[in-house]
Amino acid sequence: MNIDQIRDDFPILSRTVYGKPLVYLDNGATTQKPRAVVEAITEEYYSVNANVHRGVHFLSQRATELHEASRETVRRFINARSTNEIVFTRGTTESINLLAYSYGEACLKAGDEVILSTMEHHSNIVPWQLLQARKGIVLKVIPMNDRGELLLDAYRELFTERTRLVCVAHVSNVLGTVNPVKEMIRTAHSHGVPVLVDGAQSIPHMPVDVQDLDADFYVFSGHKVYGPTGVGVLYGKEDWLDRLPPYQGGGEMIQHVSFERTTFNELPFKFEAGTPDYIGTTALARALDYVTALGMDRIAAHEHDLTTYAMERLRQVPGMRIFGEAAEKGSVISFLVGDIHHFDMGTLLDRLGIAVRTGHHCAQPLMQRLGIEGTVRASFGLYNTRQEVDALVDGVVRVSRMF
Ligand code: PMP
Repeated sequence: MNIDQIRDDFPILSRTVYGKPLVYLDNGATTQKPRAVVEAITEEYYSVNANVHRGVHFLSQRATELHEASRETVRRFINARSTNEIVFTRGTTESINLLAYSYGEACLKAGDEVILSTMEHHSNIVPWQLLQARKGIVLKVIPMNDRGELLLDAYRELFTERTRLVCVAHVSNVLGTVNPVKEMIRTAHSHGVPVLVDGAQSIPHMPVDVQDLDADFYVFSGHKVYGPTGVGVLYGKEDWLDRLPPYQGGGEMIQHVSFERTTFNELPFKFEAGTPDYIGTTALARALDYVTALGMDRIAAHEHDLTTYAMERLRQVPGMRIFGEAAEKGSVISFLVGDIHHFDMGTLLDRLGIAVRTGHHCAQPLMQRLGIEGTVRASFGLYNTRQEVDALVDGVVRVSRMF
């Protein structure tokens, strides 16, 4: 990959912060957008904008075509069988809440068990806790070792007659661990249990094939894969989505409404009440086209190189503690140096133009397991360079010397 050329596609990367060149290492939180994505948004507002579906006029039909073509782009990107399996949402969080509500209504009663992992993001914990409060379900947690790898033997032992769902992150947003979701799905299926995979941190970084994984549900956010904010995806196997009730009611999701009886629209519209973010879906499709043209394999290889290099260099910093040493690790590095508070480290790195994230990363149960309150997190994207890793390491050393 020609990184210089790629960086030219992302105007924000050439700006400065406090007079220093921006070193953007907060891609786990959100990614920057290539020109093609931003232009897709302005182009559609300037020349196509009209509400989608059912419009008889030219613009509405054109906007509908773009919106539905985007659904096909998403389908192809994750290799789903059908566009009926692609539900547009506002993001990972909404996708999980949708599923927790609908699956909870249809399939869960008091005493039923849902398995989660220690390293889940709050958005894959709290919706299940709301269901726990509403329905009396039981949550069970897959433990992990000190390297940040899930314990698969313990996982297998969590299954009982009452297990109804497994919810697991494909890649941890704190540890970078790439969980063996294919194997975990096989185990769950051997017990007749479906699996929801949180793909927020995998979709931007590696090829994902939902049929190969045999995932029942797979969710992700557009903004983490170089697309716009406010749009995301819930993939669900058609058999499952067919059986689940709607999440929200309103326009678009109905077939016929009367005060006596309402019938619901077919998939995927049953789950898409109200005007969808059709501008956002077009822009998301542009983002997926962009990364597809670069090649997800090549993006993965580039980021693997950056992560390996960064891990090697950071390990040499005196007092360095890295959280997440899994054999299979994505492009996320969480660390602390000596007793320097993560917030101080992040604030001082920022003054050097280096954007990292600090805090609990919406994974407080994981912080509890690690016995810490938070970390500094550097997360790489397709446009980051070894020079930026050097800037990070030099920055960390410089800040450490100040304490
Ligand atoms: N799951 C994981 C693993 C994440 O990293 C994030 C974002 N930090 C989310 C879920 C939530 O994504 P969003 O805020 O885009 O809904």
